[in-house]
Amino acid sequence: MQALASLDVGMWFVLVAGIVLTGIYGLRVCNNRQPRLSERAIWLQHVYEFLPVGVFVERDQKLVYGNGQFKQYSQQFKTPHPFSHQSTQGDSLFSLQSPLGDVCYFRLIPFPLDHENEMGYLVLNESATAYQANFIKDVSHGLTDNKVESLDVILDALQQILPSSLIYVAKYQYPTQNYHYFAHRGDDFGVNVLMGVPLLETKVAPPNHWFWLQQSQWVECCNLGFIQSYNPSYLGGVALFNEAQEPLGLILILQKSQPAVSDAIKDFLTIFSNRLKLELSHELDLIKIKLNADRYREFISRSNDAILDIEIHPGIYIEKTFDQQWQDLTDHGQLLHFNQAFLNLFERTQSCDLAQLLDIKSLKHVIQYAFQSGYGSETLEAAHKMNNGKMKWLSCTLMVDIDDGRLNRLWLIIHDITDSKMHIQRLEHQSQHDHLTGLPNRHALRQTLNDRIDLASQFGFKLALLVLDLDRFKEINDTLGHHYGDVLLKLIAPRIEPLLQEKRAILSRLGGDEFAIVIPNVQSLNEAEYLAKDLLMKIKEPFDLGVLTVEISGSVGISIFPDDGKQSGVLLRCADVAMYQAKSVNGGILAYQKGMDVNTPRRLALLAAMGNAVQGGQFFLCYQPKLHVKEGVIHSAEALIRWQHPEYGLVSPGEFIPLAEMSDVIVPITQWVIDQALSQIQRWQKIGYLIQLAVNVSPRNLLDENLVPYIEQKLAQYQVSPHLLEIEITESALMLDPERAKDTLQKISNLGVSIAVDDFGTGYSSMVYLRQLPVSTLKIDIMFVRNMCIDPQDERMVDAIIYMAKNLSLKVVAEGAEDLQTLERLTQLKCDTVQGYVIAKPLPEDGFIAFIEQFEINGHKKAP
Ligand code: C2E
Ligand code: MG
Ligand code: MG
Repeated sequence: MQALASLDVGMWFVLVAGIVLTGIYGLRVCNNRQPRLSERAIWLQHVYEFLPVGVFVERDQKLVYGNGQFKQYSQQFKTPHPFSHQSTQGDSLFSLQSPLGDVCYFRLIPFPLDHENEMGYLVLNESATAYQANFIKDVSHGLTDNKVESLDVILDALQQILPSSLIYVAKYQYPTQNYHYFAHRGDDFGVNVLMGVPLLETKVAPPNHWFWLQQSQWVECCNLGFIQSYNPSYLGGVALFNEAQEPLGLILILQKSQPAVSDAIKDFLTIFSNRLKLELSHELDLIKIKLNADRYREFISRSNDAILDIEIHPGIYIEKTFDQQWQDLTDHGQLLHFNQAFLNLFERTQSCDLAQLLDIKSLKHVIQYAFQSGYGSETLEAAHKMNNGKMKWLSCTLMVDIDDGRLNRLWLIIHDITDSKMHIQRLEHQSQHDHLTGLPNRHALRQTLNDRIDLASQFGFKLALLVLDLDRFKEINDTLGHHYGDVLLKLIAPRIEPLLQEKRAILSRLGGDEFAIVIPNVQSLNEAEYLAKDLLMKIKEPFDLGVLTVEISGSVGISIFPDDGKQSGVLLRCADVAMYQAKSVNGGILAYQKGMDVNTPRRLALLAAMGNAVQGGQFFLCYQPKLHVKEGVIHSAEALIRWQHPEYGLVSPGEFIPLAEMSDVIVPITQWVIDQALSQIQRWQKIGYLIQLAVNVSPRNLLDENLVPYIEQKLAQYQVSPHLLEIEITESALMLDPERAKDTLQKISNLGVSIAVDDFGTGYSSMVYLRQLPVSTLKIDIMFVRNMCIDPQDERMVDAIIYMAKNLSLKVVAEGAEDLQTLERLTQLKCDTVQGYVIAKPLPEDGFIAFIEQFEINGHKKAP
């Protein structure tokens, strides 16, 4: 104590504080490196785990990941996210106090991740040492520096303060989990391992707190042999723990003589022990780093990814050109680590030097990209050609370590993504192509159209879009089965592609039996129409389906960029509308014209809803009476369909029948009408009315081979005499396919069913042809009748038709007589029968019977 007294306390304080401050600030954390880590490289998570600095990731400011070190902080500060308040405050120093009272200083370094809302943070414990700033740097440089140089200074100072004491320092060894002799001052007891220390750790004082025990006190709680044999009158000590509460070491001071240690000495001792704690905790950390470094090397060698770890001395300046930088890299780069996976992937051998290892085009591109983007850490995809010519897809991650504007270390991690790339390409192909024909699908067509429209508008071209739909395809599907339908669809592309090549036209399948053709550059609409004609000719040639040969035809709608629209969607819709119209005209090709698609959305909606309307019971029939003029009797009527649409209300057949005729929906609709009409005739029959009922059929129905058997079956089912049914077919429908019409009508007529030609006068049918048909009635088109009293030309037309019908022994019906004047005039012209509003509007079932009965009361007879 004399020596102590002789010391200048102020000088000691400076000495001690100097040591401590050197420990803290002499090794300041270097935090100018802000690595940009890619989330996609999952291996980085392993790297995070290796890092002795804390790393955590927040998504939308909520913690989503914390590495091992972060978890330790979370234990130390007894909260799941000790840095939750600091993460938003950027790169500034802040302190946190643990429940045990330790105060630590931290700095957070944010780094962006791939995910927009994600942010990663490095937690730098600035109250500790520099190594935490950069694990990898420490791995390279600091491993051998295992000596606690300042310990001697500390011990010497302690001995100065407490000259007559035994000062014993033990260090906690992780492999044995015991305190081992580390250093001492005073008598040497030759004790290497301290057994039974735990009681000092826990019972006497909390960790990092000095205890001072009188002889009587230490005897009770300490059974360490060498202490007992030394038998101090006063025992002081401290058990040192790091921030993670891991034991570091122990200082024991055994004093033979009194007096006790003064408060000033206790303060100094606290500073000494803190210093020692710091040193020992560095040492422990270095051991961990060493362990991590081993794991790091192990990780690299075992990794399936190709890894290169290069150190460059002197570092490469960021300002240089890439050629100079590359030169520096190959000249000054030193290969620290690389693995077998690298050699295998790039077909290199162990004996290759750095220049040979880096002489790979794809790698050079990645490095160049990263360097030129300001030394950023990057993950890029690159294609690499193997010696056997096969291509490999690589995901290359480049991480750099920059100090003072110089790049002094870089890591390349290359993951072979060929398999997943292939998988993705396959998926992309699938999403762009039709699986049956292998042709580009609607989705791909949209892209092609967009691209070609861009080009066409750039160079002032016209572009044509053709939509081709096969006629009668459904029939083939239904009669031969889907297999043959598929075979046919697959034959379309090979058949028509040779015609497309010359025009560099691109074929895609829109779905079903619909195809699209883009002609990227046309002079005029004519050019597109010529191609369409050639296509249809080709399609008309027989297709050999293996079991049989089929003949089909098609319809084409054309739209032109920029005349009909400037966007792919508009062009597609126009070509589609034109195609539907084309289906209803002879020749099968139509270019889009304005006005074709009036109400298109409604029409498309109706078309879509029509399929279910039959089952949904949304259709019903009305009956419009026909007056037999001479007899003044109603013994016939026309069945007219009505659609009660759940959304659009009552929809007129004039609107939906032409739509139904574009698709096969017309078939079930006509069947339903026939069924209902026959059942109605039966019901009328049962109440004593024999009414001939006319049913309208569409041209498409005449193609339906089931039509005749269906009528026959229904006549039998409702036990209706065939002459009570009449089939109305328009004149223009007859002229679409006269041969087939003749054939089918003959069969219907053979059943005993009457046939009327509807809307006569509009279809320009020849008398010779009409004569060959089994027709019994002509219905003069409403167009002539309506205005016959105003327009003498119309009247002449009506007169001529009546005259001609009589000559052919045909009955004649005038439809659309709206007033008495017209009725009278028709009577004068000897028209047999009149149908029109002047008699009655189309009536529902009840109204129709009421009307007939009303008619009877007015003096007309009920049928027997
Ligand atoms: P349509 O076969 O020529 O039928 C006559 C149309 O003229 C009916 O129109 C009828 O209501 C209307 N009409 C009758 N008398 C007059 C009149 O004095 N003045 C005026 N302005 N019109 C009159 P609706 O019922 O709208 O049918 C229109 C067309 O729809 C029909 O013309 C027919 O082609 C078709 N249609 C109606 N029902 C069916 C059906 O069940 N199957 C098929 N395939 N087509 C049908
Ligand atoms: Mg009709
Ligand atoms: Mg008509």
